[in-house]
Amino acid sequence: AKGIHIEGLSKRYGSGDTAFLALKDVNMRVEPGEVVGLIGPSGSGKSTLLKCLGAVIDPTAGRMTLGDDVIFDNGWKVRDLRALRRDKIGFVFQAPYLIPFLDVTDNVALLPMLAGMPDAQARARALELLTALDVQHRAKAMPSQLSGGEQQRVAIARGLVNRPPVILADEPTAPLDSVRAMAVIRILNEMAKRFETAVIVVTHDEKIIPTFQRIYHIRDGVTHEEAGEGRALS
Ligand code: ADP
Ligand code: ADP
Repeated sequence: AKGIHIEGLSKRYGSGDTAFLALKDVNMRVEPGEVVGLIGPSGSGKSTLLKCLGAVIDPTAGRMTLGDDVIFDNGWKVRDLRALRRDKIGFVFQAPYLIPFLDVTDNVALLPMLAGMPDAQARARALELLTALDVQHRAKAMPSQLSGGEQQRVAIARGLVNRPPVILADEPTAPLDSVRAMAVIRILNEMAKRFETAVIVVTHDEKIIPTFQRIYHIRDGVTHEEAGEGRALS
């Protein structure tokens, strides 16, 4: 079973009188090659769900598989969460968190280099993504020299570079204008198709919401699936 499968997931913070059920009943399925939206008001559980998916916190109950790996099954969990995060999950955060003393290319190439890819090949792959995201002209710049929008696009390239089977993107287009926001969505869709990646995009960006084929709404820790407009990407 590839992609992302979540069944009856719940997450309780705290215990006793102060216990709070942030996720009550989350059910999701994202097929390889698919990009789905996750939408919900503040406090609905989006960050909690992303943290569970990213193996940053443990769910309380339910079942969750990423790619070929069962990562949580009613209390049982995989042992090597660090390896799972490193090899299987691409994170694209709201804040770029670029490494200030590496240039743009090496910020993107670092992960494949650490994974043992020859430097030249890692940099070529980085440049390919930077080109697709239209920041190739900043390849030799340092992060501090970039605009906010450019930093965001570099951070997206870094999240995609290892071609993980799962990509979790938290408001990836928030600071971008609509042309660039659409470029990011197009690239996520291309990556998804080309590398059979399952992508979840947490967003409330009205520019990109019409592009999703499927959307999960989350409210008070409960998900509901809905068909999206699936507007064609040009
Ligand atoms: P969202 O990302 O949709 O804004 P969160 O997942 O951050 O929602 O939060 C969902 C609910 O869980 C909120 O009511 C929040 O106050 C609560 N919550 C989040 N983190 C914790 C925590 N560490 N301890 C207790 N409650 C938390
Ligand atoms: P964006 O809409 O992408 O956020 P900005 O208007 O912030 O763009 O920046 C426009 C251009 O100015 C970009 O090419 C950016 O790299 C450049 N720039 C912004 N801040 C700096 C800086 N501190 N040093 C060098 N170049 C900068």
